[in-house]
Amino acid sequence: MANSTALRWAGATDVGRVRSNNEDHYLARSGLWVVADGMGGHRGGEIASELACEAMTNDFTQPTVVGLLDAIDAANTAVHNAGSNDPDLSGMGTTVVALALVDEDNEEVLAVANVGDSRAYRLTGGELEQLTEDHSLVADMVREGSLSPEEAATHPQRNILTRVLGVYDEIPVDIVTITPHHGDRYLLCSDGLFNEVPEDRIAAILRGVPEPDDAVEELVQLAVGNGGRDNVTVVVVDVVSDGGQAESASSALGTGAGDSTGPTTASSPATDDLAPFSGGAYIDADDDGDRRRYRRDSDEDDDLGDGPRHKVGHSRRVTWRVVLFLLLVLAVFGGAFATIQWYANSTYYVGFDGDDVAIFKGPPGGVLWIDPTLQETTRLQRDEVPADTVDALVAGKQVASLEEAEEYVRRLEERVFQAREEADQQATTTTTTTRPTTTTTRAAAP
Ligand code: MN
Repeated sequence: MANSTALRWAGATDVGRVRSNNEDHYLARSGLWVVADGMGGHRGGEIASELACEAMTNDFTQPTVVGLLDAIDAANTAVHNAGSNDPDLSGMGTTVVALALVDEDNEEVLAVANVGDSRAYRLTGGELEQLTEDHSLVADMVREGSLSPEEAATHPQRNILTRVLGVYDEIPVDIVTITPHHGDRYLLCSDGLFNEVPEDRIAAILRGVPEPDDAVEELVQLAVGNGGRDNVTVVVVDVVSDGGQAESASSALGTGAGDSTGPTTASSPATDDLAPFSGGAYIDADDDGDRRRYRRDSDEDDDLGDGPRHKVGHSRRVTWRVVLFLLLVLAVFGGAFATIQWYANSTYYVGFDGDDVAIFKGPPGGVLWIDPTLQETTRLQRDEVPADTVDALVAGKQVASLEEAEEYVRRLEERVFQAREEADQQATTTTTTTRPTTTTTRAAAP
């Protein structure tokens, strides 16, 4: 194996402007670079990403593709065990995207592995390409064509992951190996970067800022400046020298010869080399020039994608922010409910109950689910109320209190009695006009 690939790198992370703690962690050491974006209640998110980085540091002992997968496996186990042993950390998980310098067919290559929605990119020939596929609901929707990448960046469910490290005892990992080219620049980042900064801006900074230290700083500051709604973590790794490997790979490609560049199938020697791995096999899905894509095919792979057990949300969502939101929703609904109840109970109207004039509690016609209730029936009948009040009573004469309703009824009764009296008076007057005769008669009677 030619040990001649020279790399330089830098990493940076920032809590952002909204979150109170940083659940991202990164690792940048010779030969292994990792970005992990943790999730989980309490301090679960922070702990999961930290444990994953720690486990990968300790367990990446063989610089091979299998060695890298072993390290990710160890990280999965570490997070899973910690989550199983502490109820406060139950269900915590983390994304992981890793770049490692590994030996493949006696050549030094860069391996990129990922679980979740943290990404690896490569800037090559001035062009930025995404090397990883996000294991997220919105990424599935983009792949199906039901969502545009722009919509995905702001989609409310963009934090739903379809694969996450540490939640289950086993996890499928995507991995790709790439021949290092002098001048290539690799970027590992959490979603706090690419959800805040458009890819063309990311590319412009990677093209324009030569020092990795400065590049990571600028990227992080840009994400924070654009809103910083999430923790943001960036690792940049530059290929300073490829030891002539890229050239030999290119010439091999040119002649169509060489194991590492020719079409590779699942039965190729390269794949056989990778096969004896505990509990799984490798499918060599894609071999494209200087790149080879692997996927560890676990037993449960079949239900990947639609099995609900793989739909794992960033459960950090269920943190105080969500609780606060739910409380707010409850307060708003509770408040509205109480207001409606109050309104329904604090208003009365006088109307008809059949042919009887009656007092009802509640607004006429009710409000939402609350129907008006009959409070009192009066002795007044529909056919005796004054003609000018009939319409008001049919519609319901609304008042603020029971007393006011009773007062209204009392005045109505008064008017009715007055009308009766007037009617009686009328009758009396009529009688009176005839009386003089009578009186006269009477007067004349004695
Ligand atoms: Mn994130």
